[in-house]
Amino acid sequence: MNLVLLGAPGAGKGTQAKLIMKKYSIPQISTGDILREAVRGNTQLGLKAQEYMNKGLLVPDEVVIGIIEERLKGQDCKKGFILDGFPRTIPQAESLDEVMSRLNMKLDHVIDFELNEDVLIKRLSGRRICEGCGIMYNVYFNPPRKDMVCDACGKNLFQRKDDHIETIKERLKVYRAQTMPLIDFYKAKNMLVTLYLDGTEGPDLIFDRLCNRLES
Ligand code: AMP
Repeated sequence: MNLVLLGAPGAGKGTQAKLIMKKYSIPQISTGDILREAVRGNTQLGLKAQEYMNKGLLVPDEVVIGIIEERLKGQDCKKGFILDGFPRTIPQAESLDEVMSRLNMKLDHVIDFELNEDVLIKRLSGRRICEGCGIMYNVYFNPPRKDMVCDACGKNLFQRKDDHIETIKERLKVYRAQTMPLIDFYKAKNMLVTLYLDGTEGPDLIFDRLCNRLES
């Protein structure tokens, strides 16, 4: 099964991707994670990407398209994959079509997570991540027992640079302008599965709804 997860930053794409990965044994391909890893490693890609990411802007199309093309050639993608955070622009979606047809692959579904903007802002601005084990918390919805300390491993929590309020607003603006047109793009191809969320359901409940839609 080849899937694309669409939705604003903070809609829960990454969390759902991990649950899909576990259930269907297909890899999660998150361009955000790949770029953050490159930034941490101080690679040429990381240095280039960092200036855009810190401002809440999209990294240029040709950079992310190149990353995806290489990644989809991986042996582990033969059984299927979950694209989390790619495509984010129409040119990226068009390139994805080309790359996939060259690799003899086809997209099965595009899942769009729809969530109110006030909830998105709280989710992103409240997000804290453990520097040790990567577990995520939220100071509003799921706070750690001790401030800025991981319940599971006791290491410190950190906040992503692009989860500060001004950058969040920019990311949401970019999402509306550049990524939302993909909803109509995939609707026209009859591939879109929309999940309307209100921010009160936990990840497992959302995942049940998602699986029901995929399997129906
Ligand atoms: P994410 O973790 O998906 O929210 O991505 C974090 C940041 O990485 C974004 O704000 C962009 O700067 C960059 N990024 C991730 N995916 C893409 C993409 N498909 N196209 C351009 N930039 C991206």
